Amino acid sequence: MSHVFHRSLQQTYPVAVSGEGVYVIDNQGKRYIDACGGAAVSCLGYDYAPLKTAINAQIDKLPFVHSSFFTTDILEQAAEALVNDTNGVMSHVYFVSGGSEAIEAAIKMARQYFVDTGKPSKRYFIARKQSYHGNTLGALSLGGNEARKAPYKDILIGANHISACYEYREKQPDESAEAYGLRAANELEAEILRLGAENVAAFVAETVVGATAGCLPPAPTYFKRIREICDQYDVLLILDEVMCGMGRTGTLHAYTQDGITPDIQAVAKGIAAGYQPLGAVFMKAFIVDAIRQGAGFFQHGHTYICHATAVAAGLATQRIIKSENLLDNVVKQGDYLSQRLHEQLADKPYVGEIRGRGLFKGIELVADKASKTPHDASLPIASRIRAVAMDNGLMCYPIAGTIDGVNGNHVLLAPAYIIQAHE
Ligand code: PLP
Repeated sequence: MSHVFHRSLQQTYPVAVSGEGVYVIDNQGKRYIDACGGAAVSCLGYDYAPLKTAINAQIDKLPFVHSSFFTTDILEQAAEALVNDTNGVMSHVYFVSGGSEAIEAAIKMARQYFVDTGKPSKRYFIARKQSYHGNTLGALSLGGNEARKAPYKDILIGANHISACYEYREKQPDESAEAYGLRAANELEAEILRLGAENVAAFVAETVVGATAGCLPPAPTYFKRIREICDQYDVLLILDEVMCGMGRTGTLHAYTQDGITPDIQAVAKGIAAGYQPLGAVFMKAFIVDAIRQGAGFFQHGHTYICHATAVAAGLATQRIIKSENLLDNVVKQGDYLSQRLHEQLADKPYVGEIRGRGLFKGIELVADKASKTPHDASLPIASRIRAVAMDNGLMCYPIAGTIDGVNGNHVLLAPAYIIQAHE
């Protein structure tokens, strides 16, 4: 009997004991190839020696010191490296322990920015239905996964939702991708006008949607129009790159492929390859300046912010990705994965669409291909695929959930950046 409060109380889990490259090995000696990075986390596989060495070195030196007393060399170096890699877009970075914490901090940062600049009525957040931003109450409020929200509906903070950019389902047959992108983005303007621009603090979106819609890259015009709207109405743009960021889509930050920059950006998962729990919030200089000149203090923090060992793992991960040119491999193997998925699956009657960027792919499953009718909610087919895959030594990430009243089934693939074609 397990005394661990596993999230599923109906399932028994294999016992993982070791890792080898992109494989996890259980206590029966069975090997599982990780095709999803767990949940798009394990970007360097499970036994990357230089990363383990860097973490151990930091533990030997100084594992942790509370951030209200000291800064550390490793923290300063990691922040400098990460900020430098934004090519002057961002000026500071705030380190937390994961994605939900990064989103909570981003929400509060946006709110404090407007309080500190004398616009306290700007308090509403607009997010998108097809989105997941984490499980803490603020982050959960922004997301659209109805099952995850259902038991907690009465205690959420409330957020306003527009549609995500979802070409497969929302683009009209006679509409170009460019025209659809503009139409989808203009929903934001309508929502800001409905709420009153003087009341809206920020728009929050995943650059490439992950865990609610099986990897949804935006249409080419979408984020350029979103950026214009945010600028016009003095609304901050917060991009959630917890899943799609830090190299997953083939560029370090996914937003660079859309020709825009956010005001605040949340990252986590791949930032430290899962070797330590780490998330981060990037911000532009004008936000930092406003808070410096306002309260002079960010009214939000956790015990483990700026954790030396976690930050050492983050810095080492980023150095490895650069020195090994792993983003080139993300692009190369991502193209190969797309090609193979199309060859093997595109004509199957239950495969609606295969899409994605870099090593971030989604397969949308449908009951009827011609009408794009999803499976009935009683048929969580993606979860069944996960179970069969595990039996066969393959980890893939199932997404079965209801968004905006529509049941969806998707399989997400997000292998490590080190994966090779034969794997
Ligand atoms: N944002 C996105 C886009 C995510 O995919 C996730 C997790 O899957 C989160 C936020 C929450 O991150 P965490 O689970 O580390 O709290």
